[in-house]
Amino acid sequence: FELERLGVHESVEAVFPPAELAASLSHLPAEVAVIGDDEIAGCDAVVTLEHREAFLEVEWVHSIQAGVDRFPFDEFEDHDVILTNSTGIHDRTVGETVAGYLLMFARRLHDHVANQQERRWDRPEWDAAFTLPGSTACVVGTGTLGKGVAETLGGLGVRVTGVRRSGDPVPGFDEIYTTDRLLEAIADAEFVIVTVPLTDETHHLFDAEAFDAMRDDAYFVNVARGSVVDEPALIDALEADALAGAALDVFEAEPLPEDSPLWGMDEVIISPHCAAYTRDYFRDTGDIVRENVDRLADGAEFHNRVV
Ligand code: NDP
Repeated sequence: FELERLGVHESVEAVFPPAELAASLSHLPAEVAVIGDDEIAGCDAVVTLEHREAFLEVEWVHSIQAGVDRFPFDEFEDHDVILTNSTGIHDRTVGETVAGYLLMFARRLHDHVANQQERRWDRPEWDAAFTLPGSTACVVGTGTLGKGVAETLGGLGVRVTGVRRSGDPVPGFDEIYTTDRLLEAIADAEFVIVTVPLTDETHHLFDAEAFDAMRDDAYFVNVARGSVVDEPALIDALEADALAGAALDVFEAEPLPEDSPLWGMDEVIISPHCAAYTRDYFRDTGDIVRENVDRLADGAEFHNRVV
């Protein structure tokens, strides 16, 4: 198809100002504009966060997220709409966020922040703080996020194991398990970190049985998607002290409802689905879009094509 008009859908506003991306793409050989729902029809391609029914009438949709579970693949296929995603850019951002969670738990920094809110001078128990070297983190999903987490934690002296479907080795991981050995893989880890896409296979991959398999002193981290976890089962495990704590960036319902018991737990760190945020996000996304506009001109296969 010929790219004449590319829309930057206003839903990207949740992550960066749409106008920043539009300006950075202004040198493309096509008209680039920030668009609302009523202007989708006039575009050949759209860069977006959310899905809209009207996208089925354009040629190409680019998701600014790596996770594309919100898009109806079958309908895209039926309407011959190309879908691309933004995998490949979240390695360092999410890796550093996860390292931050682990350091907060190990060095008790979350306690200090909580105490400061109350103007309370209160030191941790003598045996509460620890250091990371010598501990093991099991990272479930060894793609861009998993590799970024492994590289960042490796630099902090953590031994990192991974879980993926194929079981092939991945640089940065000391050991790789196949998904059918998940319970074995997570059994001895002090930290279990989830970085898989949400698919039919990974829906509720972490259920009561998985939390039961984990050590009682282990911390659970989810930076993937909320529905990879059976959230009530996680809450039960935390309430029963069957886990030491959790750091959660994603939830089954977002925003996390005000009445969720997770908000009130001392050993739970909550971030509002922003583990990958960076002021460079629009540039990183723009690079993928630009690459694909070049490929379109060359008649080459799109980078990061999902459908
Ligand atoms: P990638 O496609 O690069 O990696 C996905 C990895 O998951 C692959 O290593 C794949 O390995 C593995 N995988 C897929 N299915 C399974 C399974 N059933 N069991 C075990 N491993 C599996 O994706 P990204 O790393 O870029 O992103 C991963 C997900 O993280 C996204 O889909 C998104 O939902 C989420 N995300 C969250 C962000 C946030 O802000 N919190 C930011 C960015 C992404 P193999 O093929 O060998 O199974």
